Amino acid sequence: MAERTTDLLNALAEEDVDVRRIAALFAEHGETDPDLTSEDVGALREVAVELRHVLAAPTLDQAAQRVNALLARETHPLRLSDHGGTHPWHLHVDSDDEAPWDEWFVASTSLFLVRLISERRRRPGGVCAAHACDRVFVDTAHGGTRRFCSRRCATRARVAAHRRDRA
Ligand SMILES: [Zn+2]
Repeated sequence: MAERTTDLLNALAEEDVDVRRIAALFAEHGETDPDLTSEDVGALREVAVELRHVLAAPTLDQAAQRVNALLARETHPLRLSDHGGTHPWHLHVDSDDEAPWDEWFVASTSLFLVRLISERRRRPGGVCAAHACDRVFVDTAHGGTRRFCSRRCATRARVAAHRRDRA
């Protein structure tokens, strides 16, 4: 879920979002034959901004408040679904198995984030600290605080800091 969340939030934040790319990401994260329209992707982009806001919260308290606001507005009573016997029973907080993609995405990701916050009692993620990178990440580690979206950005930032120190 951490990976699905960051892959989708970062892809949906790009300026030119390709419907096929978003569908491919959903497929990669377990959705069978996602048939997305450009309207679906437009709606997904809107909820992605709200979810991104939770990860970008500067404090744990603010992250909790933001995810609570999303839960209040976007989720429906918790239920179990097996999709008519085709899947193992699992949690849903959208209105229906046939709910629109954006509703399903914001509801299931909010559920993931509240569970993550209640288990770790730390900020659920952040925005990459590397120069010119605004990708978000989900922090599932239990050690130190994560600051970068990827190993690549962490290395880039370390090299830049080293150069600054020598200059
Ligand atoms: Zn980065």
